[in-house]
Amino acid sequence: MSDKKERKLTKREQRRKEKFIEKCHLMEKDGYKVENLFFSILLVNILGLLVILPINFLFLAIYYLFNDYTPNDNTYSPYIGLIFIALMLLLIVVHELIHGITWGHFAAEGRKSIEFGVIWQALTPYCTCSSPLTKGEYIKGALMPTIVLGFIPGIIAAITGWVPLLILSQLMILAGAGDVLIVARLLLHRPKNAKVVYLDHPTECGLVAFVKKND
Ligand SMILES: [Zn+2]
Repeated sequence: MSDKKERKLTKREQRRKEKFIEKCHLMEKDGYKVENLFFSILLVNILGLLVILPINFLFLAIYYLFNDYTPNDNTYSPYIGLIFIALMLLLIVVHELIHGITWGHFAAEGRKSIEFGVIWQALTPYCTCSSPLTKGEYIKGALMPTIVLGFIPGIIAAITGWVPLLILSQLMILAGAGDVLIVARLLLHRPKNAKVVYLDHPTECGLVAFVKKND
């Protein structure tokens, strides 16, 4: 996000941002160059949908490969909508927890590097890691929630033919749009002949790369 439309930061975010800037200065002193790999919220929403919808369709196709098009029973409770909303809210929290557990596992400072928060203006919960990670570590932590809550339930839904699980898995894949987008951006980031570490941006959607050319 550019400076001109920067949202107001909470005290915790402000403190995190200061720590982040400090870290950037330290890395620059050490010969690294900082490259931004983050997106504006608007771009995340548009590009995120473009990268995630084919994956949604893939899992739908897998489901309908093994199941027919008619719902297998009509006995769903009238409260199913409410149950779904409650479950979605819970699963979105679980999604962030899985990011935290996976990144915390790789981070040099462990779980201490992990913080959770909510961007209230966008009603978006998030998890952020204040330790630098390798590309592989960052990608594993970014994709893990979508694998655990989206891909695996999607496969189980295809095997069991259970429609509510199919819907939930589809929604949880959709919820991973931003993560998949960042992973795609990360995979395209291939500086030649350089040492690279990645650091989550404390307040933006995405991360920065520290790149040090090998001489
Ligand atoms: Zn996520």
